[in-house]
Amino acid sequence: MAEIKIAGIERLRMETDGEGVTTLVVSMGCPLRCAYCLNPFTWDNSYAGFKTYTVKGLYDELKIDSLYFLSTGGGIMFGGGEPLLNADFIREFIEEYKSVGWKFYMETSLSVPREKLDKVIDLIDCFVVDTKDMNKERYEKYTLGNYDLFYNNLTYLLEKVGCEKIIARVPKIPIFHKDNEFLENEQFLKDMGFENINVFDYINPEDHKKISEAALKNRDSFIAKIIQ
Ligand code: SF4
Repeated sequence: MAEIKIAGIERLRMETDGEGVTTLVVSMGCPLRCAYCLNPFTWDNSYAGFKTYTVKGLYDELKIDSLYFLSTGGGIMFGGGEPLLNADFIREFIEEYKSVGWKFYMETSLSVPREKLDKVIDLIDCFVVDTKDMNKERYEKYTLGNYDLFYNNLTYLLEKVGCEKIIARVPKIPIFHKDNEFLENEQFLKDMGFENINVFDYINPEDHKKISEAALKNRDSFIAKIIQ
């Protein structure tokens, strides 16, 4: 039976993830190493704070808010970490419970093998794509990830589900983004055909009290790298 490691469940979110009331499910595991990651505990399998759920166990935990979801058109936001690392579990979960009438959203970096995206692409009501940066050099410097993997999945997702089912998030990252680089990123996405683009100020890690030691270490090496 499929299982998932969940680092946290955040209930009663209003209009932050899509329509209506939603519950955010934060799954463990991420292929990226963003310099200013605010959830670095999701990288670490030795993190003691996660719980393991079966499909039914997770439903039992989430169903407390079912009436709110149904009356507002809300549902579940799968986030992380990177939720697509749990594509098998999420597919099984949605197939089992889609008849309940909840919406299913996913916040993803798309930095995963294509087959993982394919497993859920037809089941998600709206994808929220955390784009980080649309410039290959900046993307790879910030995330330590593979831009081509991300970009190819982004174009594929756009072609398969259409721009109305995608919200592209564009962070303005302190220290990292200079001048109008985030505007370049926004324009790049517009030119690709995205219409729902959300430019936002990424929180300065200096101001984030919950940021962990791991992220601070990561940030310091990152800053050392960009000011070389
Ligand atoms: S995508 Fe980046 S910010 Fe999000 S959990 Fe992974 S490393 Fe952290």
